[in-house]
Amino acid sequence: MYKVIYEQGFDKNYIQYIISLLPEEIQNKIEYIREANSNDVLYEYSDPNWKSMKFPERDFIYIQSVSLFQRYVGGCDEEGGISIGIRKQDNTDTIALRIWHEILHSLSLDADGFYDHLEDMVTSGCLSWAEYGLLNSLWNNVYYYFNRNHLDEIYYTYLMGKL
Ligand SMILES: [Zn+2]
Repeated sequence: MYKVIYEQGFDKNYIQYIISLLPEEIQNKIEYIREANSNDVLYEYSDPNWKSMKFPERDFIYIQSVSLFQRYVGGCDEEGGISIGIRKQDNTDTIALRIWHEILHSLSLDADGFYDHLEDMVTSGCLSWAEYGLLNSLWNNVYYYFNRNHLDEIYYTYLMGKL
């Protein structure tokens, strides 16, 4: 079970709305959503890529605002604490996918392995041959960039099937 805590200043309805975009299987793993307080243990990760982000304890998901220039906006530490950053320009779909991505890491699924699973996604019916072709072409980065949320959702759903 995961406990979602968010930085003071966020509207609870906004965070609840983002969580409601996650698949039901994930939503069922969330125990509660509340504002973070001074009793919550948050620490800074030593890796400079996450330099201004705070990480919570195991089974917690900490949501915080980050600057436009933050390098990485999501992370899952070795203990299973999940840190999520929200930039001003992020839309709610993107944020929900970011949370889902880190939850997949915490479940030891290969959340970063999109390109390694392309063929298997096609043969298992998750991805069309047309998309497979585009993702294998010279334009793969462009195609991925403009369809990122859609492709991430396909990939994460495929990964969940492995649980
Ligand atoms: Zn990742």
